Amino acid sequence: MPRRARLPAIALGLACLLHASPGAQAPPAIPTPEQFFGFKMGAERKLAGWDRIAEYFALVDTLSDRVAVQELGKTTMGRPYILAIVSTPDTIASLDRHRAMQKALADPRTTTDEQAARIAREGKAVLLIGTNVHSTEIGNSQMVNDLIHRLATEQSPWVDHVLKNVILLLIPSQNPDGQQMVVDWYAKNLGTPYEDSPLPELYHKYIGHDNNRDNYMLTQAETRHLTRVTYKEWLPEVYLDKHQMGSSRARIFVPPFKNPPNPNIDPLVWSEVNLLGQAMATRLHEAGKAGVVWGEQYTGFWEGANSTNPWWHNMVALLTEVASSRLGTPIVQEVADPARPPRPVQAGGPGEGPAGPRDPSAPLPAPTDIQYRMNYPRPWLGGTWRLADVVEYQMLSTLGLLEGVANNRELLKRNFYLMNRRTVELFAKGPPYAFVVPAGQRDPVAVAKLVELMQAEGAEVERAGTAFTADGRPYAAGAYVLRLAQPFGRWIKDMLEPQQYPDIRWPSTASPIDRPYDVTAWSLGMLMGVETVEVKAPFDAALAPVAEPAVAPEGRVAGSGPVYILDHAMISSTAATNRLLKEGAEVSWATQPITVGGRERPPGAILVRNAKAATVAQLARDLRLPVEAAAVPPVPALRLRAPRLALYEPWGGNMDAGWTRWLLEQHEFPYTHARNADIRAGDLRKRFDVIVVAEMTTAQIVQGNTARNVRPEYAGGIGDEGVRHLKAFVEQGGTLITLGNAAQFAIEALGAPFENALAGLDQDTFFCPGSLLRIAIDTRHPVGYGMPEEADAMFINNGGYRPTATFPSVGTAVVARYPQKQLLRSGWIIGEARLQGTGAVLEARIGRGRIILQTMRVQNRAQTWGTFPLFFNSIFYGAAAD
Ligand SMILES: [Zn+2]
Repeated sequence: MPRRARLPAIALGLACLLHASPGAQAPPAIPTPEQFFGFKMGAERKLAGWDRIAEYFALVDTLSDRVAVQELGKTTMGRPYILAIVSTPDTIASLDRHRAMQKALADPRTTTDEQAARIAREGKAVLLIGTNVHSTEIGNSQMVNDLIHRLATEQSPWVDHVLKNVILLLIPSQNPDGQQMVVDWYAKNLGTPYEDSPLPELYHKYIGHDNNRDNYMLTQAETRHLTRVTYKEWLPEVYLDKHQMGSSRARIFVPPFKNPPNPNIDPLVWSEVNLLGQAMATRLHEAGKAGVVWGEQYTGFWEGANSTNPWWHNMVALLTEVASSRLGTPIVQEVADPARPPRPVQAGGPGEGPAGPRDPSAPLPAPTDIQYRMNYPRPWLGGTWRLADVVEYQMLSTLGLLEGVANNRELLKRNFYLMNRRTVELFAKGPPYAFVVPAGQRDPVAVAKLVELMQAEGAEVERAGTAFTADGRPYAAGAYVLRLAQPFGRWIKDMLEPQQYPDIRWPSTASPIDRPYDVTAWSLGMLMGVETVEVKAPFDAALAPVAEPAVAPEGRVAGSGPVYILDHAMISSTAATNRLLKEGAEVSWATQPITVGGRERPPGAILVRNAKAATVAQLARDLRLPVEAAAVPPVPALRLRAPRLALYEPWGGNMDAGWTRWLLEQHEFPYTHARNADIRAGDLRKRFDVIVVAEMTTAQIVQGNTARNVRPEYAGGIGDEGVRHLKAFVEQGGTLITLGNAAQFAIEALGAPFENALAGLDQDTFFCPGSLLRIAIDTRHPVGYGMPEEADAMFINNGGYRPTATFPSVGTAVVARYPQKQLLRSGWIIGEARLQGTGAVLEARIGRGRIILQTMRVQNRAQTWGTFPLFFNSIFYGAAAD
């Protein structure tokens, strides 16, 4: 088993401190957080920021033999992303040996039951704790300083017991950039009327709160670090993700989770989740704390979060959510009268009401959820809630978990091995046995990306050296095969099969629908436009492991002639087009089928003239894009221009806009990040060809945030003035693209001639909160070029649109529609007949310009590779001179 070298420890300006203590003497005492930061963690209106926290951790690393701090890499904005490893000194000195034991437990194919039993007896339980992924949930980033100090310094039987039995892997912030952003923002506003002012930007450069929705697409640096440490380097038995929730109801959520459990997860995971969740509750109740709730609000079904994804990897993953203060500022809540008749308990649990802005000087209304019950035995009745309370609840729950893991060390290790062994046995007997990713698909880059994502989370992928047959279907050599009889087979199955979300109505079938926590579909092949085939019968194939990371075959330039032809079906043709346009090459899309070298290409072939041969050769290599050089007869074509593109984003940050920024940069679109003032300044057509408005409401765009606590420079929206300028932009030949439900803005504010067939329907008539649905595409329309005739699109409470009675000056086109057949491919939908036949992607020509409505989530969370071309084409088409 290959051993990894220990990562370099970080050292941040500690030289003078170290020189102060001559080598032979006792090491200097580790300063307390209060000594180091100048205030107690949780002190009112005092926050420690990341840059100092990282220094503190580096100092503890230097001064303690119980702690090793490693930098796992850089954050998106270049800060250190660190991991602190805490255990006994002899363990800290032999981490490679402990990592090797984890790897042995994770692979029952090479580890015998006897070896596993010995590791369970002799090894330590590995507990990974990630905190503060959501930056305004600030308490944990303060608490971790106290925790590391206590574990590094305390001489007590309790700490001895923990350190002897546990290796704690602590990530003190999973989003250091955002942590520092929030602390700086709070310091700026402290003592002003804007003390509780919302941040003007997302607290992660691109994706804000969705940084905990990235656990299968792994787009961001921070997600990659966590994934690597979890599934490659350490394979912990237990994972805890620490959060904060709203302020008005329960004080802390601990597991158990609520319904539904995902059926692909071993039930033993849930038993241990419940055991350790209640170890946390035990510690909180031991300390006499009120407001501990479980079994409500947070479900056990969805893959996308830090705290959920490990379940399919046979790991015991937990979540805590502590009620929030307003950062360092306390919240006063009126106190409920427990003597009044209790109100009925709502099925939804302790969810928050609408979190609108409020006057911080007015107390919150008293909590209404004060009915004691088995999963909320001592309800929170109200009062003052301080950062110190947040820090204390987070500390107590963490101590409870450390003790629970220490007490159950052998059981957790034994069962991690057992679940891995059972997974291998389960799928060795099948069905299903495997998933095949056939060779020769439309976009080999998307195929390789899917395989790489599977590998990154611990899946073993093989490739067929020769042709084979499975379930009666022939597969060519080069097909990728993911056999499920491997330790993380449950995860592979869940990622590649269609999801079936149960229609839960609780407590009776007459109750309203129990809404899922997030989306109900994540079938990776469908998201990415890659075919994956489940195999139901045993089969033989000559398979060899695929080296990590998988990559697509290198692209090259074939043939000869003055015209280069790029394949529009490959997503990397987008970045190639942007590079070529930037360099001044002539790029156009053939609007008719063309036949070159005996091969007919559908409309949309990308023709490049006057390009430097070296540039084309380079991009073919970089982007793994096959290019054909040929003599092409003159054909009708749409000449592209480098798009002068603006992406609108309101103040306060908009995650869909943030994801769109990320995506545009990945595919090398230059763009202007347009704010309210840019739109209000007018003359838009002179500056831009295309303006993109991501998923947001008309009120967010036009009115913006007008709450009292918003700093004046970030208040308001584009206003009626901005709406007038956008109308003029379109009239004068500009293209406005709306994403998702921003279609309503195009209709309500700009007069786009469409109506939503789903408007006004209640949830019992139509409901589709995050599913993959079939769409049919007009591949002769430029927005549909390069797409297959049918694709899978992500639909999240969106609409189905139809052109209204056209008026003479307006032409409309439906580029993609929901066909008149079964639409649901993965997830959950009620009332799908209402959607059949309606439009998903529509164009209205207004004046000299156009509005293009991408009404589903065409680029959702940068996951929907299968529909990206619809969006990218809209941009090029909008800027094209036709
Ligand atoms: Zn959170």
